[in-house]
Amino acid sequence: MSSLPLIWRKFPERYLMKGNKCETCGTAFFPARNICPNCRRKGKLVEEEMPRQGKIFSWTEVFSGPCGFEMETPYFIAIIELENGAKILSQIVDSPKEKVKTGAKVKKVFRKISDIDPEGPIAYGYKFKVVD
Ligand code: ZN
Repeated sequence: MSSLPLIWRKFPERYLMKGNKCETCGTAFFPARNICPNCRRKGKLVEEEMPRQGKIFSWTEVFSGPCGFEMETPYFIAIIELENGAKILSQIVDSPKEKVKTGAKVKKVFRKISDIDPEGPIAYGYKFKVVD
């Protein structure tokens, strides 16, 4: 399997949202950390797949996107608090503006992130959408 292109070798972290968790104090981290800031050397970190659901912790509407995202403006960027307490930054897709609000339940979906290079591989990854 050593001939797998890089984009597929990165599959676990990009698609499964692998982070880790400190068994000592129960705090989850994404992306994974090398050391638990609460427990320092007493912390025991184990790999953990992040939950697929969470809620919007805070959000913002973006009117001018970075290179490659111009066609998608305006769009929503949110800090999402996952069910295990870890917070991640993600774009919110497929959700009408009136449903994008603090505390709204969201779930992970797979979406194309970028196809800037028409000859290159299309990058897919996680985004979130509001669930009813
Ligand atoms: Zn800890």
